[in-house]
Amino acid sequence: MLEITDTNKFGKVVADALSKVELTVTDAKTKTRWINAISKATAEIEQNGDFMTWMEADKSLLIWSQKSNNIYAANGVCQCRAFEQGSPCFHRAAARLIRLYMETENVPVKVKAEEIPYIKQNVQIKAERVAGIRIN
Ligand SMILES: [Zn+2]
Repeated sequence: MLEITDTNKFGKVVADALSKVELTVTDAKTKTRWINAISKATAEIEQNGDFMTWMEADKSLLIWSQKSNNIYAANGVCQCRAFEQGSPCFHRAAARLIRLYMETENVPVKVKAEEIPYIKQNVQIKAERVAGIRIN
């Protein structure tokens, strides 16, 4: 069973994967296929995580396909028909997304203002000198 507990992180992994395809895959047909595979993988992970198991030892994702009743062990390779035909499949896309999700460190989303150097703290503007007009 696989459950995405940090949906923000997962969303970022998916966005990164899509932009990587956009930037690195030059063949339009292959690009479309990978984007479809990533989209399907994202939906499958979110909806059918109960039928997936992440195998940390060999970094593969076991996916029980309810459609074919086969279990696929996907990492760079897969055992499904699409892979046999040399096409991108959502199993491999899902395995990659989960691997990246597992490897991505938890980065806090909120940053405190005092940690941002370009925001000066405690800047006080004297009201009476704003734009040279005395306002109080
Ligand atoms: Zn596959």
